[in-house]
Amino acid sequence: MKLYNTKTRQKNTFTPIDPANVRMYVCGPTVYDLAHIGNARPVIIFDVLFRLLRHTYGTGHVTYARNITDIDDKIMARAARDGKTIAEVTAETTAIFHGDVAALGTLAPTIEPRATDHVVQMIELISTLIEKGNAYEGEGHVLFQVSSMEDYGKLSGRSVDDMIAGARVEVAPYKKDPMDFVLWKPSEDNEPGWESPWGRGRPGWHLECSAMIEEHLGETIDIHGGGIDLVFPHHENEVAQSACAHEGAPLANYWLHNGFLQVEGEKMSKSLGNFRTIHELLEEWPGEAMRLQMMMSHYRQPMDWTEKAGKEAQSTLDGWYRLTDGIEPGEMPQGVIDALSDDLNTPAAIAELHKLRTEAVQGNADAAASLKAGAQLMGFLGSTATEWESGKVAKADIDADAVEALIAARIEARASKDFAEADRIRDEIVAMGVEIMDSPECTTWKVAK
Ligand code: AMP
Ligand code: ZN
Repeated sequence: MKLYNTKTRQKNTFTPIDPANVRMYVCGPTVYDLAHIGNARPVIIFDVLFRLLRHTYGTGHVTYARNITDIDDKIMARAARDGKTIAEVTAETTAIFHGDVAALGTLAPTIEPRATDHVVQMIELISTLIEKGNAYEGEGHVLFQVSSMEDYGKLSGRSVDDMIAGARVEVAPYKKDPMDFVLWKPSEDNEPGWESPWGRGRPGWHLECSAMIEEHLGETIDIHGGGIDLVFPHHENEVAQSACAHEGAPLANYWLHNGFLQVEGEKMSKSLGNFRTIHELLEEWPGEAMRLQMMMSHYRQPMDWTEKAGKEAQSTLDGWYRLTDGIEPGEMPQGVIDALSDDLNTPAAIAELHKLRTEAVQGNADAAASLKAGAQLMGFLGSTATEWESGKVAKADIDADAVEALIAARIEARASKDFAEADRIRDEIVAMGVEIMDSPECTTWKVAK
């Protein structure tokens, strides 16, 4: 297997530290808001890699950790805005994230560590860095002293000047150097905080990942992943913290980064009105079609999310489902494995599946069975052709906006204790062919079977 390694800036042959336990870590979501379609890209790409590693090294021989960042100033701001507790915001957002990424056909990671469960380890890591002379305290903050690490900046290959410009580094009286970054910061009484040797406070984001990686995967892991925007400063700082705490041992041997996704040719942004959450797109598109669209470009390239490509993905899946309905998966197509093993070349893997499809159309039953095996390896063809067709047609027929509006009206009716009205609205929703699911956190809906 070959993987493009951000650290070496070339494709390298992948050799795991321990083939009996291949270890991968991917930075997960900060749970303050619904994940957008750009966030789905690393989730899907690293799911494909997880599946390929399991195929190559054996299912029980791969440990994949993707964290949940549930301490962050954005979460605090959201809780204050919505009049909710931080725990409510993170529980609701995490639950929706899980539902969304499952609908995209991703496997659950082996471990999903939460930052709030690892504050003890974070405090220990900071103490080690202070002892070793890589960090210092100032006004209740602890800072990593960038000048204490010779190799700082090697992952991103940036000069210190570039870094200062790119990271909008903050000058602060408690910093010895503007480049130094926060490991720990003090909390006000009304902010979440933990007792520490430096007073009540909370950890910095970069530190969270270093501590969770050490706890669950060890000092040096095989693969570390995330979006390209995380290379600097987030990953650079993870490297600095972990390597300095561990006598220079590298944090990860292979660093993989996905390119950015834009929508219909434009950068996604709330102000342009083209900000698409996974949650709302799942009302229009089957999750598998979204997954296939994501794989139609190579993960390192920028990609454009378009309606047209969505339709193309959907009709490709129509064909795959029709041709493989009711048959058992056959021999794993070597062409698919080879393509994926060449730096996750998903477009080439899909081209291999298209070839099998052509043979299957011509009546080759083995090709159809291989198509099913290869597609399933990549996380497709998870349901029957009938389920696929009914899910698709039903989705197209239901006015998602109307359903959402009715759900909102029902929540309001319940809040004002008008239960008769709430029940009437529920009946109206059910009559549209929709099933609604209430949980303490939220109400979701799906097309009724
Ligand atoms: P964030 O919640 O912004 O920290 O992002 C979570 C993950 O999604 C990180 O790995 C980001 O690099 C990635 N990401 C964010 N926006 C995009 C985008 N537009 N395209 C691809 N990946 C993205
Ligand atoms: Zn991280």
